[in-house]
Amino acid sequence: MIKKRKKIFIIAAFLSIFLLLLIASYMLNPQPVHAMMVGFSSMEEHEEQVYIEPDIPENIENMILNDLEQSKERISGIFDGVHATPTILFVQSPHALEKYAQKNRTGQTYYTYWGNYIVIGPDGFNEDVVAHELMHSELRTRLKNKDKVPVWFDEGLATIVDHRYMSNENIRLDNINDLCSRDTFYEPSQVKENYEIAHSEVARWFGVVGKSGLSELIEGLNKGVAFNELYKAIESRR
Ligand SMILES: [Zn+2]
Repeated sequence: MIKKRKKIFIIAAFLSIFLLLLIASYMLNPQPVHAMMVGFSSMEEHEEQVYIEPDIPENIENMILNDLEQSKERISGIFDGVHATPTILFVQSPHALEKYAQKNRTGQTYYTYWGNYIVIGPDGFNEDVVAHELMHSELRTRLKNKDKVPVWFDEGLATIVDHRYMSNENIRLDNINDLCSRDTFYEPSQVKENYEIAHSEVARWFGVVGKSGLSELIEGLNKGVAFNELYKAIESRR
């Protein structure tokens, strides 16, 4: 009898801890959870997994869908086809921004166990931002949903399809490895310059190795080879 009670107590304790963790993560970070539940919201599904806030006027809606098609073409141009199937939300009102976007009116991608969710705000209703976020999702999908690249490479690759960035030959690229952690890369006073550094370095590398070098990198990472080793070796073989 005592044994049975003990067992029930242990199971109940575990369930309570699990539930508490779930509630705590929702309270700290409700937006990804709302994005996951978008199918049960008032957002309209226009194409499969593409949701647009109903208040957005039809002409803007058509522009958004057109930008999305063009953005997918940009991804195909780098990878020969698109593997990722993210759920994409376009939101505009302050209420929807608060619900789905983490203080970012441009674009963000949430990586969850159930898939990738891209939330685009009004400042991101254009091909550059949509292609940028699609690229994050594409790379992540090809890397089997694991963190295998430094943040500067992730952002640098996204800027290859985001024409807001231009290569700057005067930028110093030798300290690129200082930008591996998210905290350093996104440090507010440095972030703008860091994007430029990441863009210049990845555009330079991609210019040398091309599509075949990029797929070699992804293949190697998926086999467990270290990023730094692969990145240099692929370039030196060209
Ligand atoms: Zn990005």
